[in-house]
Amino acid sequence: MTDNIIDNSRYSRQVAFSAVGTQGQEAISRGRVLLIGCGALGTNIAASLVRSGIGSLHIVDPDRVELSNLQRQALFDEEDSRQGAFKAQAAVKHLARINSQVQLESFTARFDVQTAASFEPGKYDIILDGTDDILSRFFINDYAVSNNIPWIYGAVAGAAGMAAFFPASGNPCLRCVFDPPASRNEVDTAQTRGVIAPVVTMTTSIQCCWALKYLSGRNIKPLMAHYDIWADHIAYAELVSAGHMCSCCGKNT
Ligand SMILES: [Zn+2]
Repeated sequence: MTDNIIDNSRYSRQVAFSAVGTQGQEAISRGRVLLIGCGALGTNIAASLVRSGIGSLHIVDPDRVELSNLQRQALFDEEDSRQGAFKAQAAVKHLARINSQVQLESFTARFDVQTAASFEPGKYDIILDGTDDILSRFFINDYAVSNNIPWIYGAVAGAAGMAAFFPASGNPCLRCVFDPPASRNEVDTAQTRGVIAPVVTMTTSIQCCWALKYLSGRNIKPLMAHYDIWADHIAYAELVSAGHMCSCCGKNT
């Protein structure tokens, strides 16, 4: 693998970045990522991580490509929308042309209580949230904590967004920071407030940066980034565990 990476001009710029280097690139090339959701966030995450040379990407999404997706869902084209292609399958088709060295797998399904048992947690080093759905994120959180897998949250609405890194086994986890809403309707989303493409790529850039840091062997603090790029605002906050008060990760304290 070392010779392959050194000889491989594909990753030369990433390897030249000293924080990654050859060792970091080798670690990244072994990284196994479960990507849940392949819409605006998910397609941008997929393209970035596959170009970065991760080992494998496993994509889960139940939906088909529609014309209204093309404004911000980076991998898809008009042909995918004409065919009504399944997003996970269409993404894999395009990603395979971008980087044939990455092992790709698609699941046309919703990641939920009915399907989670068919995913083997030992196959994934990290989970990336591309759902942009608040209730799905709580399900991902509980799955990640119970299976000891770190995960990276991403959310967008309008020109505002948030990204957060949650460590394996929580402390903190998403439930330490937020209570779940009673329904999806209580939360601003891209459906209710619209969304501009730059805040999608801002969010996925932060998510993918944390993923590369983690996969290259860095220790990452539990962090949340929040921003409104139309209002020229960005801030990072360290996340704090709720300890034994957390109904999800409290048992691990
Ligand atoms: Zn917690």
